[in-house]
Amino acid sequence: MNEAISTLKQWIDASDNIVFFGGAGVSTESGIPDFRSVDGLYNQHYRYPPETILSHTFFMAQTAEFYRFYRDKMLCLTAKPNAAHRKLAEWEQQGKLRAVVTQNIDGLHQAAGSKEVLELHGSVLRNYCMRCHKPYDVRDIQKGTGVPKCACGGTIKPDVVLYEEGLDGDILRRSVEYIAAADILIIGGTSLAVYPAAGLIDYYRGDKLVLVNKTATPADRRADLVIHGAIGEVFSQL
Ligand SMILES: [Zn+2]
Repeated sequence: MNEAISTLKQWIDASDNIVFFGGAGVSTESGIPDFRSVDGLYNQHYRYPPETILSHTFFMAQTAEFYRFYRDKMLCLTAKPNAAHRKLAEWEQQGKLRAVVTQNIDGLHQAAGSKEVLELHGSVLRNYCMRCHKPYDVRDIQKGTGVPKCACGGTIKPDVVLYEEGLDGDILRRSVEYIAAADILIIGGTSLAVYPAAGLIDYYRGDKLVLVNKTATPADRRADLVIHGAIGEVFSQL
């Protein structure tokens, strides 16, 4: 165990107010591609870049093409939680961790057993009719082809925050509250390059800001502890 991981373990052992903020890197170790990373979807061939397809405008204008990409690239329903998801759920059960704030939309934290999960970008597991708001299971979306339709004739939309769409105000407010009150804030698997990650950490007032990421991030110099490594590998040592 290296020195930084040993320090983090000591902090965690002594805390009952940990908050975790996670990005795509938490899920890539479960086999879910990060479309912003070099190995991610950018290197795969589609007629439009992922950020165009995953926008509100595109969803409304070319719904069938959105769903072709979405079913192909965004629904990874066979993915399983990894060591990082499991450790976070364990800390919550032990009364050490208060909340997981995540940018991921795969539901893997809940699959690992976490209860207080604030999904900033929504979840592929929830879907609803845009007309009558009837909820639909993700399997209803996955099994079909073309545009999934409700019995009422409305189009079914994933409860996922697309580009151009705003974040849920209540989830954002609760995330800020947890982060502002946290003893330890661990940020993992995100480059902190995108909104709202960079802004949210500004609410943290403690002196144990921990960054765990494969590569350096703009926030490294603000952190009290930086661990460069795969998050599942790091967490399995804690
Ligand atoms: Zn409907």
